[in-house]
Amino acid sequence: MTEHWTEQMKNQVNTLEELTKYINVSDGEREAIETLKTKWGTSPYFASLMDKNDPNCPIRRQVIPSLEEQTNTYGMDNYLVWKENRATEEIRPDSIARQYHDRIAFTVVQVCGIYCRHCFRKELVVDQDLQLNFDVEEGLAWIAEHPEIRDVLITGGDPLLLSDEKLAYLIGRLREMPHIQMIRIGSRLPIVLPQRVTEGLKKAIGGYHRVPVWINTQCNHPKEITEKTAQAIYELMSCGINVGNQAVLLKGINDDVDTFRELHQKLLRTRIRPYYVFYCEPAPGIDHFRTPVEKGAELIRDGLRGHTTGLAQPMYVLATKIGKIPLMPDYYITDKNQKEYTVRNYKGETTTIPNVPE
Ligand SMILES: *Cc1c(COP(=O)(O)O)cnc(C)c1O
Ligand code: SF4
Repeated sequence: MTEHWTEQMKNQVNTLEELTKYINVSDGEREAIETLKTKWGTSPYFASLMDKNDPNCPIRRQVIPSLEEQTNTYGMDNYLVWKENRATEEIRPDSIARQYHDRIAFTVVQVCGIYCRHCFRKELVVDQDLQLNFDVEEGLAWIAEHPEIRDVLITGGDPLLLSDEKLAYLIGRLREMPHIQMIRIGSRLPIVLPQRVTEGLKKAIGGYHRVPVWINTQCNHPKEITEKTAQAIYELMSCGINVGNQAVLLKGINDDVDTFRELHQKLLRTRIRPYYVFYCEPAPGIDHFRTPVEKGAELIRDGLRGHTTGLAQPMYVLATKIGKIPLMPDYYITDKNQKEYTVRNYKGETTTIPNVPE
């Protein structure tokens, strides 16, 4: 197997023939690959984590197209235009998605290390029906002219697929802007292509500076984490980059208590701090990955809060066009009045604490 990340990208597993070197392809998978017009593929490294014989393997389900993608009963058409407020009055470059006053998402690239079947940006990244113009210079100029922006979230596609030189340039330009206080990079590569974390990358985006860089990755199942992941995360941290996780709640992949708890414990063991769990968004063609909205809160109630380390607790959120809406469990307060609150813990035990009137 090829070790350098650019070799991994050149050798993407994205044909039936390549895939058969890793797994026994099922009839359904074969038919979906042959008939659906969709982009799919994975790094050879991530493909090597697939279960050879189980089509329900969480890695296979995230990577290999499924005939179920043709069904769209609950998804919203033109989802991304709605979600990213692209049809609103504020004039912004295509690369800038805005839901908040002080921070924006800046899309810099349209390619990924794997093409997640559940991607909420599927129309743009996977099916490529939506054509946008991602001009980095135009985006930088817009950010420079907006002093209220203090936090830039660089996203894609997968921004860490840019070369070290381009990343160093991008981070350097943002760091020169006096109003920018922090930079975040959303990237699945620490999980799907840990080989990307090289000395060159560390130089390009790490190091001590007034403006820190944070990475949020996406890991949805404990099987996605290996020794290589742990080493890559350690390397990122060694140059000052904190790594968080944004999981997506996926039916049949991580929506049971045991898997959900193991995922969050294993992330912490790998030095990745769980940040968000997202409700799987109503993008078209991903109905089969979606659970009822309450599910994420139930998993936190039954599997995480109180049941394991506090640092392992993500915030469960619904991402919408008006921002992220927290949907945490609501069993904690059983009664309240002027004098006291009655609160409940994870075991169902209650206690009271005195309230302070205003
Ligand atoms: C998710 C998102 C952010 C960042 O939200 P946080 O809650 O600060 O992590 C900012 N802008 C857009 C458009 C987003 O989708
Ligand atoms: S890596 Fe992110 S942007 Fe790319 S396909 Fe997966 S979820 Fe979508």
